[in-house]
Amino acid sequence: PASLRLDRLLANLGYGSRREIAGLARHGRIVLDGVPLREADGRIAVTPDLPERMSVDGEPLDPPPGLLLMLHKPVGVTCSHKEAGPLIYGLLPGRWRRRDPAISTVGRLDKETSGLILLTDDGALLHRIISPKASVAKRYQVTLDRPLRGDEAATFASGTLMLEGEDRPLLPVAMEVHDATRAAVTLTEGRYHQVRRMFAAVGNHVTALHRDRIGALDLPGDLAPGAFRLAGGEDVARIF
Ligand code: URA
Repeated sequence: PASLRLDRLLANLGYGSRREIAGLARHGRIVLDGVPLREADGRIAVTPDLPERMSVDGEPLDPPPGLLLMLHKPVGVTCSHKEAGPLIYGLLPGRWRRRDPAISTVGRLDKETSGLILLTDDGALLHRIISPKASVAKRYQVTLDRPLRGDEAATFASGTLMLEGEDRPLLPVAMEVHDATRAAVTLTEGRYHQVRRMFAAVGNHVTALHRDRIGALDLPGDLAPGAFRLAGGEDVARIF
């Protein structure tokens, strides 16, 4: 495993400057395997079990780089610095926002869309999930302004639907009708505002949009809007 100086490791995890880490160490506030690490320049092997073995002020160390988070995005927060409004990163603890490598969203949801969004500091994993080659399916629960006409599922499944301003038809989209104004759609691509524009193309209007599944990974039922949790290996396996 890679090894890092203690001050570098903790600075990269957002615990403070290297000087501040040295201060924590001197005061015995960093403990590894039950032993206070008083020197900040010692090298630490960065292994996944580090949080079980190392503590800062008695709290387990934050997860080392290579993490994946599942977050329940509430309506009203944005995934992009370019949009107005509170950023989704504000839902993470301050220390997690200061990490290097930084944690970023895997793709985006609109400000007005809620539901499951993944965040990671692992660029390779991010690209593996969003790559068109992987074609990871994403399911959205849709609430509509007007009753369905009845031909929408066939149109979406046809692979011929053209969105305004585009020159390539959408890949087929599966639709499951719940009732006159509610349905689920499952996409394998993610074009800008795709679900909203698909329903606009069939004369309707989306009033609420919620993503509840990525691959075979469901939004955990116990994850309240705004809350997140660390994904484990079994969660990652469900994505692909
Ligand atoms: N489609 C949309 O229109 N918005 C989203 O946030 C996701 C998919």
